Amino acid sequence: MTEKLYWNDPYTAMFRATVTGKTSEGIFLSETAFYPEGGGQPGDTGTLIASSLSYLVSNTVKSGDEPLHIIADTSGLEEGAAVEGRIDWIRRYSHMRFHTAIHIIDAVVHTIYGSHGLITGSQIYTDRARVDFSIDSMTADDARKIVDSANVIVSEGHTVRDYFISREDAAGIRDLARTAPGRDLISRMDRVRIVEIEGVDLQADGGTHVRNTREVGTIGLVRVENKGRRNKRMIINLSGDR
Ligand SMILES: [Zn+2]
Repeated sequence: MTEKLYWNDPYTAMFRATVTGKTSEGIFLSETAFYPEGGGQPGDTGTLIASSLSYLVSNTVKSGDEPLHIIADTSGLEEGAAVEGRIDWIRRYSHMRFHTAIHIIDAVVHTIYGSHGLITGSQIYTDRARVDFSIDSMTADDARKIVDSANVIVSEGHTVRDYFISREDAAGIRDLARTAPGRDLISRMDRVRIVEIEGVDLQADGGTHVRNTREVGTIGLVRVENKGRRNKRMIINLSGDR
């Protein structure tokens, strides 16, 4: 099994590893800092260096439970080969800031609208993110208020922690997963990874996050889109480090 350096320390941008297998699409490594796409967070890109040759990793995806590094031509990357990995850190750090921002917005919306499975999806891009809510009405004014409240939480400098708990303990925490697929996933896991924004939010989550909410910067509202009667979409961007 690949050791998940992106969970052990999400700030790992460079690492050494060994090739443990390959497919027609790419390779598996003994350990990796490349985050495989999932939970609305894109897969990492970057380079692998082996025997002075540089290989472009165009994406990282999950193959079963293992991160698969997508590489166009894997010749020279045979099983047992030593590699040095470098993720595109600027891109990944942006994803981390957006991911934490989305959890803060989730928490604010949860407080305002209640606990009826409100978040139906989210997608992070490098320069923006979208969050979908299953609510009847959200005006631009409503969304601005949500973003303002989220920015207050950002500036309060809450610590963000992650840890694993047992499935039994997870079952006892109300609203740990906000979506039906999330709840179903938890019921099939031996242990559940928790991302906690201290005093703000607790969620089952597989993503990478910043250590402190201040790193998010300032959340900006780009626009609100009406995607159906019970589906409202908020698009946000981020500016500046604090
Ligand atoms: Zn998340």
